[in-house]
Amino acid sequence: MNKKRIRKLNNVQVGSGGPVIYWMDRERRVEDNWSLISAYKTAKQLKVPLLIYYAIPDKFMGANLRTYDFMLKGLHETFESAFKLNIGCLLEVVDPIIGVKNLVSHLNASAVFTDFSPLKLPRKWRDALAETLEVALFEVDSRNIVPCFIASEKLEFGARTIRPKIHKLLSEFLEEFPVLKNDLKKLDNSDYYTNFNVEEVLNSINLDKSVSPVDTFEPGEAAAHKVLVDFINYKLANYDSDRNDPNKPAISNLSPYLHFGQISSQRCVLDTQHSDLSESLKEAFVEEIVVRRELADNFCYYCPDYDSADCAWDWAKKSLAEHVNDKREYLYSYNEFEKAITHDPLWNAAQKEMVLTGKMHGFMRMYWAKKILEWTETPAQAFDFAIKLNNKYELDGRDSNGYTGVAWSICGVHDRAWFDRPVFGKIRYMNYNGCKRKFDVEAYIDKIKSL
Ligand code: FAD
Repeated sequence: MNKKRIRKLNNVQVGSGGPVIYWMDRERRVEDNWSLISAYKTAKQLKVPLLIYYAIPDKFMGANLRTYDFMLKGLHETFESAFKLNIGCLLEVVDPIIGVKNLVSHLNASAVFTDFSPLKLPRKWRDALAETLEVALFEVDSRNIVPCFIASEKLEFGARTIRPKIHKLLSEFLEEFPVLKNDLKKLDNSDYYTNFNVEEVLNSINLDKSVSPVDTFEPGEAAAHKVLVDFINYKLANYDSDRNDPNKPAISNLSPYLHFGQISSQRCVLDTQHSDLSESLKEAFVEEIVVRRELADNFCYYCPDYDSADCAWDWAKKSLAEHVNDKREYLYSYNEFEKAITHDPLWNAAQKEMVLTGKMHGFMRMYWAKKILEWTETPAQAFDFAIKLNNKYELDGRDSNGYTGVAWSICGVHDRAWFDRPVFGKIRYMNYNGCKRKFDVEAYIDKIKSL
């Protein structure tokens, strides 16, 4: 394993008393997980047990019943797989800072490992724990193939600037994962090998129950692997030519699984590379799942304003400000957007696709966000509405990809200046007729109506 993906967050030495704790956060899987592999290796070296700890805070970035249902069902399966490896598991509804601290002192833990995240709240938790934990705390980037803090030390301008950096390091990090054995010592308390009850946990969290779970995507690691196999066997061949057509089955549908860490992007790339499809198809997939995806983590990690319109590049900020008083032909409230009652049947269909299935097609996401910019009072309001809706209904919401996608659509982030026009200024424009030239708009609207 390439040790460069591990960072020590405090100056405390690894102990030799109790178990190693893997505070699982972003990477909710047993297979292909560098954070778990690092914790397992340390536990084995110290000859101590390993415990996976999962803390659910009372409120997490607007997460609701849809997202918690998907997340917890996947986590339940992950815990079952961990038990087979003699790895204990504990889930608690508690603030992660308090939960990790209490567990460390209760078990006299030898070390704590956790996942890397570029987002504000998870970083706040890690900073607080790094300052106060009296045990070694390690962070492992198991989301990105090239760890975010190694790919680049600064905010990248766009895909053009990060692509060569990632490609230069890719072969160094794109290694096969070791398989874990069930050879660890177990903890004395059998409670750590007893799974939680999904319904009981759902009932104990203070969450928004108005957004119901969807059956479009089956949660969990096993389902994620089936989706990957299906993509490689039946869709990847048309990925390059058809992925921008929402009527054609060419995209992977991996984003809910990648978001919840139920599958590793490194596994997706390794398996696609082993297929006998052409190099150009493999490249097209790597461009999205590695370059664009890792660019999103770079953006959120290095741009403190990633979650508001203040993140706009300078040219975009200036241009949007020049057009802030332009007359808008249509103006909608948040509720009108949410209910999909705009004048545009294509926009309404995209919004309904997200609400009903938990996943809007990637091409429609761009159109959807750009129209929110066109039909709101200010770019700041557009950004807030888009993020709020995205995070509420998308199964893959609350992700660095979501913040970056909205920032690209509304604030010109990672894009260049285009022709100056009303409302948009120099932000890239998209319209209904452009969509009509690309795909059968009526067929898409009908497809969504039939849901
Ligand atoms: P595929 O085309 O099969 O791609 C495979 C994987 O590559 C994706 O799962 C994703 O991890 C990555 N990827 C693909 N396109 C992009 C991209 N443009 N940027 C970064 N990574 C990419 N993605 C999310 O994961 N969560 C979000 O909340 C989210 N919100 C978005 C909002 C807007 C306004 C826009 C324009 C884009 C958003 N995206 C988001 C990025 C992208 O649209 C989705 O990742 C993609 O549609 C997911 O579907 P898929 O897995 O079938 O995609």
